[in-house]
Amino acid sequence: MKKTVNIVGAGIAGLATAIRLAARDYRVTVFERSNVPGGKLGSIPWEGFRWDTGPSLFTLPDLVEELFLLAGTEMKTFIRYQKLDLITRYFYEDGKILNAYGDPQLFAEEAERVMGEPAGNVRKYLDHSREIYELTSDIFIFNRFFRMGTFLSQKFLKAFLRAWKLDSMVTMHDANARRFRSPHLVQLFDRYATYNGSDPYRAPGTLNIISHLEHNLGAFFPEQGMYSLALGMKEVADQMGVVFHFNQPVEKVAMQRREASGVVVNGEIHPSDLVVSDMDIFYLYRDLLEDGAFPVKHFRKERSTSALIFYWAIDAEFPGLELHNILFSDDYREEFRYLRNKKAIYRDPTVYLFISSKMVRGDAPAGKENWYVMINVPENLGQDWDSLIEQSRKNILNKMGRILGTEIEPLILKEFVADPRTIEATTSSHRGSLYGNSSNSRTAAFSRHPNFLRKYRGLYFVGGSVHPGGGIPLCLASAKIVDQQIT
Ligand SMILES: Cc1cc2nc3c(=O)[nH]c(=O)nc-3n(C[C@H](O)[C@H](O)[C@H](O)COP(=O)(O)OP(=O)(O)OC[C@H]3O[C@@H](n4cnc5c(N)ncnc54)[C@H](O)[C@@H]3O)c2cc1C
Repeated sequence: MKKTVNIVGAGIAGLATAIRLAARDYRVTVFERSNVPGGKLGSIPWEGFRWDTGPSLFTLPDLVEELFLLAGTEMKTFIRYQKLDLITRYFYEDGKILNAYGDPQLFAEEAERVMGEPAGNVRKYLDHSREIYELTSDIFIFNRFFRMGTFLSQKFLKAFLRAWKLDSMVTMHDANARRFRSPHLVQLFDRYATYNGSDPYRAPGTLNIISHLEHNLGAFFPEQGMYSLALGMKEVADQMGVVFHFNQPVEKVAMQRREASGVVVNGEIHPSDLVVSDMDIFYLYRDLLEDGAFPVKHFRKERSTSALIFYWAIDAEFPGLELHNILFSDDYREEFRYLRNKKAIYRDPTVYLFISSKMVRGDAPAGKENWYVMINVPENLGQDWDSLIEQSRKNILNKMGRILGTEIEPLILKEFVADPRTIEATTSSHRGSLYGNSSNSRTAAFSRHPNFLRKYRGLYFVGGSVHPGGGIPLCLASAKIVDQQIT
């Protein structure tokens, strides 16, 4: 008889786990609280416009390709994607504009041309990021949660002996400031801390591996937008016989003598041999596990940042903008000081502007664009969000008008807003954090919640709130680790 597994949540990690276990001939059932798959990977349609609501950057596509191969098919049958020739256009307050090209040599030459930074410095930096990635990724990303074996492995020993190369004793910012003359390039590379909701002035320099993913391995974009990743994965899972139940929140994980025996939905037990949870680990403990299980200490750790996003239907086209654009703050350190110390939003925040209609023509009517305008904000601690949002909206519009040379407000046909409260409510992400716990300390990588616990047999944890962390590639890695762990 086939073994059975119930999966709680159809976020990217839940979908990946469903495909992996279906490929191993498990009978897989997914219960999802919302009416669609994808979780944070969402989509809003409105009168000829469509916005991806969450992730917008796609790296390490091999991790998705692998799922389709396991399903006995090819990703391109379901989802096509392209490598970006121009990853991001950076705008600075002093009027400088830098194109971060996908080709590392072109990017290095552009940095020399615009910022006067010797091209060799950029190449050396990216080589160094590659080296850190190669030394650490098998240990910190693709490895199951740390056990004695990890520390005795050859890979760990190799990384340990070259620890000085990992930049783990300095912050990302200090490591970057050492390697570049141009403060603009330091800021550009500091920004990668925000890819997992961290602070470059506190996160260890080892996190500079993130730029390796984008600049050496490449940044990609699905031809039908980011949401097509969730739809394509759901479709292949359907074909493999995975059963999805939408609008069906799981109420409890059923346990028999500390062994998971199924899930409770609508008061009814759905038995299974295994249970995999893709929901935020905080809410899993608080709502679905037995009383007394809540690991208070774990949840005292610092959370990653959240986001304030305006989704604007824009009644114009801006040829000077790209798919991904950054309008940098003039004082990056102050911006992070506000996030960290004041749990508030600086008056000149760095604005990320993502326009999927630059690549997906169907995402906006002709002559118009779909803007996703995002700034980093603190996690939800009950701040007065309405006034923070009102003030930030004014600051963002001023900044955009200043840098783009056009008044933006009159061009906005429609607006949707996401803030830490709504992100928390719609994706059950504790305090609205985008990436689980922050990576602001040297020990963060070792202290994420594991993917399984000895005390709960048959229960596994995947997704951005557990090891190895948030972001699509790491969520996919968590599904792979769990797959390897289930014997
Ligand atoms: C605004 C934003 C921008 C981001 N940008 C990027 C980016 O550019 N690149 C990148 O790689 N990552 C990005 N991320 C992070 C990335 O989206 C997440 O790390 C990832 O999508 C999390 O996936 P997950 O599988 O952990 O679960 P989630 O997406 O959090 O999904 C969990 C699912 O579980 C469901 N659920 C919760 N409780 C229950 C229950 N009781 N019963 C049943 N179902 C339940 C939820 O409804 C949800 O569908 C971004 C996130 C946000 C919000």
